[in-house]
Amino acid sequence: MIPPEWLADKEVAVIGLGRTGVAASAWLARCGVRVYASDADDRPELAEAGERLRGESVAVDLGSHDLDRIRACAAVVVSPGVPPEAPPLVAAREAGLEVVSELDLAARALPGVALAVITGTNGKTTTTALVAHLLAAAGIRAEAAGNIGRPLIGLAGSAESLQWVVVEASSFQLHDSPHLNPTIGVLTNLAPDHLDRYPSVEAYYADKRRLFQHATDRSLWILNRDDEAVVAAVAGVPGDRRWWSTEGRADAWWDRASGQLMLGESTLVSRDRIPLLGDHNVANALAAVLVASAAGASPEQMAAALGTFQPLSHRLEPVRELHGVLWVNDSKATNVASTTVALRAMNRPFVLIAGGYDKGEDIKPLALLLQDCRRLIAYGAAAGRFRAELGSSVDLVTVGPLDEAVRSACACAQPSDAVLLSPACSSFDQFHDYEDRGDAFRRLVRAL
Ligand code: ADP
Repeated sequence: MIPPEWLADKEVAVIGLGRTGVAASAWLARCGVRVYASDADDRPELAEAGERLRGESVAVDLGSHDLDRIRACAAVVVSPGVPPEAPPLVAAREAGLEVVSELDLAARALPGVALAVITGTNGKTTTTALVAHLLAAAGIRAEAAGNIGRPLIGLAGSAESLQWVVVEASSFQLHDSPHLNPTIGVLTNLAPDHLDRYPSVEAYYADKRRLFQHATDRSLWILNRDDEAVVAAVAGVPGDRRWWSTEGRADAWWDRASGQLMLGESTLVSRDRIPLLGDHNVANALAAVLVASAAGASPEQMAAALGTFQPLSHRLEPVRELHGVLWVNDSKATNVASTTVALRAMNRPFVLIAGGYDKGEDIKPLALLLQDCRRLIAYGAAAGRFRAELGSSVDLVTVGPLDEAVRSACACAQPSDAVLLSPACSSFDQFHDYEDRGDAFRRLVRAL
């Protein structure tokens, strides 16, 4: 469980005191490890968490890291979101210390629990939540954790009551998880991303391939046959493979002609029964079905459970239908690729609300997907760029704050339209984060 050298005289450093770092510090302290936890930030929420940890005998520094103290530690546990070039991590690596993610630590604290680890560029959270839902519906004792917003270490105390943990893993978490060895590994897709934190696409893909680092003939890999980069990534990796496809036959596939999701030769469930918008979510459902089926869920159980899955917040989340207009919150779409997916999912005329904090991405490709767009309402800091780059392709108005955008959309949407908030930009011009923006949108729409 805990490496014995961590229980000797030296401290173990925990870098980053978000939810995950706090959970890891508390758990280590409870196991008898001397913990030094630090965060470069000192915002009020952290101060509160720091106080609680001090009550559990954790040494806490907020607003700075004591690099000498870190160099003298036995090992370092890093929270997600701390960039690899952060000074405490550089210091730790220079001092030759082992640096591991909270995920790596937690996986070792869950002996006897089967791990389904889900990674990829897009669809991780949805697939993770779907798998957990399918397993629960089949009476299999399972929890979802990891990048989905619930630290895995929080489950360490309940290992005995769990059969499966479904873990969403980011590339950063995989980078520092040298011991992680999934029972089932899922790679949803691969596309260039996070190039602000990686020197190259290859370096980013290499971290994703760490999913396969301990592959043996007993491993099971569940993979997207429609993605060439995924097919290439798994070449030569030991273990069984099961494939899904939305384009042709596979272990799990979508027969578009009949509208059915198929498991091999058998019909599983009709597409219409799954309350998720967009073809990408059919892919996520197929991936989840292969995992749940390998974990023991029956086709009947999975078919029923797919019909009762609640769409996740801020990801093409239907908010309400008002006077025949469906209002959809896709605030999680903080880049052009995500908004592209959302626009492809629209099966009716729509009003698009986009904009926010301009990250400088090329937005012109969206023009090709705006044939059914009644009006684009560009809001916030990026509004001017939307006008300049898309104004000739679609009826477009610019507004300032999001509430004005909602009012403007309400005034022009017609019965049977959708109003889609899918900003293609981040939220920081007016909001704390995409969740804050999506919550505000939901409130504004409910108040109409
Ligand atoms: P992640 O956790 O990997 O960010 P989410 O499930 O939270 O993925 O979905 C985030 C966004 O990614 C969605 O709003 C959608 O735009 C896009 N997306 C989701 N699933 C897929 C998929 N299978 N293929 C391509 N894009 C997807």
